[in-house]
Amino acid sequence: MSTQVTPHAAARAATNKLVESLRVHAGKPLSLGQHDPDATCGWQKEEAKAELETVKARIDVLQRRLFAEEKHSLLLVLQAMDAAGKDGTIRNILAGLNPAGIEVSSFRVPGGPEMQHDYLWRVHAATPAKGMIGIFNRSHYEDVLVVRVKQFVPKSVWSRRYEHIKAFEQLLTDEGTTVVKCYLNVSEDEQRERLQERVDDPEKRWKFRMGDLDDRKLWPKFQEAYHDALVRTSTDDAPWYVVPADRNWVRNLAVAKILLHHLEAMKPKLPPEEEGIAGLVVT
Ligand code: AMP
Ligand code: MG
Repeated sequence: MSTQVTPHAAARAATNKLVESLRVHAGKPLSLGQHDPDATCGWQKEEAKAELETVKARIDVLQRRLFAEEKHSLLLVLQAMDAAGKDGTIRNILAGLNPAGIEVSSFRVPGGPEMQHDYLWRVHAATPAKGMIGIFNRSHYEDVLVVRVKQFVPKSVWSRRYEHIKAFEQLLTDEGTTVVKCYLNVSEDEQRERLQERVDDPEKRWKFRMGDLDDRKLWPKFQEAYHDALVRTSTDDAPWYVVPADRNWVRNLAVAKILLHHLEAMKPKLPPEEEGIAGLVVT
């Protein structure tokens, strides 16, 4: 038997290793301080950009199958501090995929009917239908992050939510949705630079709100809230990943690989063909 490793198998093994290294393991201690936001994962910039295209090509194949099969869906949750690159990640890893199979939902400060329901109401309504990849730009996690840090509700209320969230995500998993969660880990220094860039560049200024500075002042409290959310809600079925986010090209490739890893595990299959189609001559 040949022991030669095919390039495809080697790439898959490398992806598995990377994904494993970024995963938050349920029940294990987590030190966010030990996750370097500036890490390169051993990649070089130009090679990483080229590899992103290869990874995306494979995601494209699997997305087509997922869409055609219409049995399962995938939900990718992106959470991060301001300017960590949630929008950039979405733009970079989804460009070129079939837009009909992707749904991006952004969650802002709740208003109107959202306020008149429980905090999962708007989120459940936005979960991906069978065949779809759904991306959450912020999510139900805001209800244990900003809501906790800014004390919008008392501790007795937010502290119960970790269990709700776990149960909610388990429901999604049980009913056919693969749930994958990425925390884009940007450093405080890099955030300052990016916020300054938003202020300085008239084309980017619309992204900046004065309130961003208030959140920035609460950095340690947010880190604590992220830590608790990641530790308490990372499960085998709905894992969290800590993605280094100070370098956009690292962040993009890492998230793309995590997405690919989970799509591969879903093994989407094209639906069975009608009998008699193969070999048919269309006249
Ligand atoms: P952005 O994503 O930068 O457009 O900003 C959206 C803002 O909405 C952020 O400041 C979030 O913290 C805030 N937000 C999102 N969800 C909630 C929520 N459930 N409660 C309070 N604020 C929220
Ligand atoms: Mg913002």
